[in-house]
Amino acid sequence: MTGIIQRFPALCLAALAATTPAEADNADMIIRADHVVTMDADLTIIENGAVVISDGIIIAVGDAADIESDYEAEQDLDGDGRVLMPGLVNGHTHAAMTLLRGVADDLALMDWLTNYIFPAEVQFVDSEFVRIGTELACWEMIRGGTTTFVDMYYYPDTIAEVVDACGLRAMISATVIDQRSPDAEDAGDSLKKGIAYIERWQGKNDRITPIFGPHANYTLNGEQLAATRKAARPFDAPISIHVSESPFELQYSKDNYGMTSIELFESIGFFDGPTIAAHVVWPTDAEIPILVERKVGVIHNPTSNMKIASGVAPIAKMLAAGVRVGLGTDGAASNNDLDMWEEMRLAAFLQKVEQMNPEVLSAKTVLRMATSGGAEAIGLGDTIGTLEAGKAADLIQVAFDDVHHVPTYDVVSHLVYVNDEQDVASVVVDGKVLMREGEMLTIDTARVAAEAKALAARIQAALQERNR
Ligand SMILES: [Zn+2]
Repeated sequence: MTGIIQRFPALCLAALAATTPAEADNADMIIRADHVVTMDADLTIIENGAVVISDGIIIAVGDAADIESDYEAEQDLDGDGRVLMPGLVNGHTHAAMTLLRGVADDLALMDWLTNYIFPAEVQFVDSEFVRIGTELACWEMIRGGTTTFVDMYYYPDTIAEVVDACGLRAMISATVIDQRSPDAEDAGDSLKKGIAYIERWQGKNDRITPIFGPHANYTLNGEQLAATRKAARPFDAPISIHVSESPFELQYSKDNYGMTSIELFESIGFFDGPTIAAHVVWPTDAEIPILVERKVGVIHNPTSNMKIASGVAPIAKMLAAGVRVGLGTDGAASNNDLDMWEEMRLAAFLQKVEQMNPEVLSAKTVLRMATSGGAEAIGLGDTIGTLEAGKAADLIQVAFDDVHHVPTYDVVSHLVYVNDEQDVASVVVDGKVLMREGEMLTIDTARVAAEAKALAARIQAALQERNR
């Protein structure tokens, strides 16, 4: 028996063995590791394993020795002291807000928004801001092992161009909001521009899925929300939206619609299509079955929920009910980074302390939320999220030779409870190496840092002038 647990397309090994001498199959890349954490349904971990990539697809996963006798590749990544796993899925970001990282902290939500975030956005957010901020975010995400993100911000064409160039995978929303925003006048204008953007990007690049991002049910009314779903339907385009995030939203919903947020969405047919719901901190017991039935993907953002004091989402309860749950960072203005390892750790700790039960959310479950579970929640479960033959080659090598990984009894425990962004060594998306042993290959780090600092200096000067 071969130690290769999966091959794609299915090749007859017996036939190969019968021809003498056996010829190795050609492939693009072989990546080895001491531990290959596949995140498949059985959570299989292969010791001294390897993954074979061809044309951007994983074609075999198995024992390194068997892989090496069966395949020859043009490129390879060594695996000493390395863990290989699927790239992380960040299900909710406002990437360009990296430029507003730390601009104002520790304030009440409305003070923070009205006196800092909105003025800075009105004055500074244009296509150039979005380009620089998104590049900075992509740099940080690649550095930290995120390979797919779901973004909601302005100038989606610019975001898509940055993602196209840097090699990441993303679902990129056209924001729909009923107020004057950096790129539209009101709901109707933002929806019209959103449709044109979807037409430009749908089918253009396999790594980029253009989607709609209606902001929330307190920045759009029921008719505008229903109109957004109607616009998405002909494209079969998913929708990403903030849902049941704060006590403010709960009260607003009751006062303006006479029902809770999820009941409102259900009543207007909004869930009649793929939906990614960010936050869902305050679902009622009656609303959770709606999320299950409508296959709504929920994205948990524990850092943002804690920092803005939104509340504690009932993640364990939703998972037990069968809701698809992934993880996200939210924007860097409310986090203040894009570190999915920290998000995993806080997701576990927050459930445990809130329920005074250390068994309520395990490291394995949280690692699933950041990989295969997150992929399912955003509707890409057939494409990414596990290391299995036939899946897209989105994977990361994590260095386990730093002193904080010594000793290693349980790889999954370390990935969730020890690992930091800086431990990620190499990142591959769609079969292309974006970072090799810490060296960024698709983004000019020095240029992006210099541009971000120059723009931040202008923002700081303007805010100081305004608040004097
Ligand atoms: Zn958000």
